[in-house]
Amino acid sequence: ERYVYRFGGGVSDGGKGDKNLLGGKGANLAEMASIGLPVPPGFTISTAMCARYYQEGERFPDSLRDEVADGIAHIEGVTGKRFGDAADPLLVSVRSGARVSMPGMMDTVLNLGLNDETVKGLAAASGDERFAWDSYRRFIQMYSDVVLELDHGAFEEALEIAKEDLGVTLDTELGAADWQALVVRYKAIVEEQWNKPFPQDVHDQLWGAVGAVFGSWQSERAKVYRRLNDIPGDWGTAVNVQAMVFGNMGDTSATGVAFTRDPAKGDRAYYGEFLINAQGEDVVAGIRTPQYLTKAAREAAGAKPLSMEEAMPETYVELAHVFDLLENHYRDMQDIEFTVQQGKLWMLQTRSGKRTAKAALKIAVDMANEGLISHDEAVARVDPAALDQLLHPTLDPKAPRDVVARGLPASPGAASGAIVFDAETAQQQAERGEDVILVRVETSPEDIHGMHAAKGILTARGGMTSHAAVVARGMGRPCVSGAGTLAIDAKAGVLRVDGREFRAGDILTIDGATGEVMAGRVPTVQPELAGDFGVLMGWADTVRRLKVRANAETPLDCRTARDFGAEGVGLCRTEHMFFDAERITAVRQMILAEDEAGRRTALAKLLPEQRADFTEIFEIMAGLPVTIRLLDPPLHEFLPHEEAEFAEVAKATGLGVEALRRRAAELHEFNPMLGHRGCRLGVTYPEIYEMQARAIFEAAVDVAEKSGAAPIPEVMVPLVATRRELELMKAVIDRAAAAVFAEKGRTLDYLVGTMIELPRAALKAGEIAEVGAFFSFGTNDLTQTTLGVSRDDAARFLTAYVDQGIYARDPFVSLDIEGVGELIRLAAERGRATRPDIKLGICGEHGGDPASIAFCEAAGLDYVSASPYRVPIARLAAAQAAL
Ligand code: PEP
Ligand code: MG
Repeated sequence: ERYVYRFGGGVSDGGKGDKNLLGGKGANLAEMASIGLPVPPGFTISTAMCARYYQEGERFPDSLRDEVADGIAHIEGVTGKRFGDAADPLLVSVRSGARVSMPGMMDTVLNLGLNDETVKGLAAASGDERFAWDSYRRFIQMYSDVVLELDHGAFEEALEIAKEDLGVTLDTELGAADWQALVVRYKAIVEEQWNKPFPQDVHDQLWGAVGAVFGSWQSERAKVYRRLNDIPGDWGTAVNVQAMVFGNMGDTSATGVAFTRDPAKGDRAYYGEFLINAQGEDVVAGIRTPQYLTKAAREAAGAKPLSMEEAMPETYVELAHVFDLLENHYRDMQDIEFTVQQGKLWMLQTRSGKRTAKAALKIAVDMANEGLISHDEAVARVDPAALDQLLHPTLDPKAPRDVVARGLPASPGAASGAIVFDAETAQQQAERGEDVILVRVETSPEDIHGMHAAKGILTARGGMTSHAAVVARGMGRPCVSGAGTLAIDAKAGVLRVDGREFRAGDILTIDGATGEVMAGRVPTVQPELAGDFGVLMGWADTVRRLKVRANAETPLDCRTARDFGAEGVGLCRTEHMFFDAERITAVRQMILAEDEAGRRTALAKLLPEQRADFTEIFEIMAGLPVTIRLLDPPLHEFLPHEEAEFAEVAKATGLGVEALRRRAAELHEFNPMLGHRGCRLGVTYPEIYEMQARAIFEAAVDVAEKSGAAPIPEVMVPLVATRRELELMKAVIDRAAAAVFAEKGRTLDYLVGTMIELPRAALKAGEIAEVGAFFSFGTNDLTQTTLGVSRDDAARFLTAYVDQGIYARDPFVSLDIEGVGELIRLAAERGRATRPDIKLGICGEHGGDPASIAFCEAAGLDYVSASPYRVPIARLAAAQAAL
């Protein structure tokens, strides 16, 4: 098996298609060499060697020695210099390069090949003593840090002392003799710390560096980075050994980094920085302030030091030509590293450049309009999840932040406001025009109005599918949930965190995209849904097969969803409508009633209210399907929990405090998620579902009559496990429909279907489909019931589960495709077997997650339903899944 691949000097053993084998850097160096760009010659040791190195106990096979010797011979042949030659030595860089870039995570060694003899040769050959000794001391310092793993503080200290002794402050003020003296000191430090002299044999140096680069793949920081970025540990890194070129050989030399377009805004302009007489690490390390690449950028910034365009006009023209060539060749915006050695341009790296969501959108649309890529490619280029950044106001990246806590990034967007500890106050203050942040230990459905009134929501407990998170995403409110270090004393009106205290009225800022909680107000910038967004979404819609609906129940949410392109409502959670301040009393009377007659009296008060809700939704969603889910949560959620509230509620409902307390105790459940909820309510109190069904049909007929566009109600029964449950509920719904149609003298089409939220329902989908005309996979509950993990309590251990690879990602965020996904596939298959035209959708939170959407496409579902602000994300993800 071959492990070494050469490039440069007219040779390219690999190319851009070989990223898995050669890593991104190696593949692109070979590619640039093959299209005739000036690349210093070198070779890549493949990622396959990295795997073998670890398999064989961190040792290299003998065969690699010969291959590396050939590789060195290749570099020597092209450069005409010899590795270790005392008269005119070849120096090399040794760099890592994984399949995907892991910036700053792995090791690099520059100037390798210098020792006490070759340093003199370098000085003679370059005619520059200072350069030679500066390079040698840089090499000793870097090699000691990266390969020998010695304490680099000692080297920095020695340099500081030397500068003090000489009475200078800048490195550039040191001369050849000063660097030479420092080399002596550095070598002494190595002997002190390592008990051996600094390696003088250049081949020992090379193997040490190669081993260190492979070793850095398993460094702690690399492991953490891989975990955060979902990079598999078995990919390994390649090692690139390449002839050094020097940007620090005087004023005709320079080094720089550049993007072929603006990575922040996406504008078509070269963008970058360079430094005259410097090595690459100087640009990155920020020791000197880099200069602009173009005259226009320098002038725009009002900066003095000349741009590269002005200081090195000929080389700049050559570089600009390379930028265009690379962009056309790779058909994407490139991120480039280059060095100019005594007027000669060398390319050291190119790769697709990282960019903001805004830039990604603009670059994709521009490139398609320029004819560089197709519309489909443009659609594929934009990360759907990144659209989130564009749809909500975001914190001004330039503003300072005083971060006091961190929670889960539950709902994106940024918000600042005064702390309030309860929903009531939130609403009152918001009505007075104040910006508030609702801070709760956790939220419940009773807080909805306060959540709606607040600019943002912060909770100490609860995961990504906690009530706060789901509702906030639905409303498009920024939310940070589960910020565990917050100690909230709502009664006293104080929030303690990390030894600091905040009181009601103090200003906080939350960033729902990062989970950060900050003291004070951090300025935000408004989203700009400019032309590019609309254009790209239009292209996405032409390739997408899956329909995209919204989870929405308020008129505002429905309108937002429609504006974002929703093709109907996939989930209208009717319980949210019951928490309205005016209705809750009637709801409570219904719950507290002793018998059916009492319940019906209360339900009669709710009927017109529900009808009005549905009328408004049907009007907004004219001509589109609307899935309305009948009441789902256990009834006790509607009763007061705090002692103080009992008297008030008793008065409002006209019941004694004692009776209320007794009924609340009766309704108490140990495990309400698996308790008296969903269709179990409909089975025991069919009059509730009957009222809701009646409200739906009355509204639908009214809207059909008024507007001429008949809505398509899809009445959905939650938490069904058996065919019989759905049969009973369908009978209630059909009876209500027949009664309304008879009264109104008009019929319309409607569907009755069910959520699939329980493993039993998935298994028995064949039977259930005989009754239900559609399935909507409620993957929040289906995940919780399949995994046996409570969606409200999982935060405590799920991070550990994800860290240890038990689940690849939080299964409440991204569908557990292997487990829950198998149930979905099976239910879809069994449902279709009995009812070939059954409508299949998903309405759990996963309906807005790109990876889960790709699964839904593969499983052949008809639609996904996501919270309004995720509708554009879902449209784009659905398009990408179809490509
Ligand atoms: C679900 O369980 O996936 C669902 C959509 O219903 P809810 O989140 O309201 O329980
Ligand atoms: Mg559910």
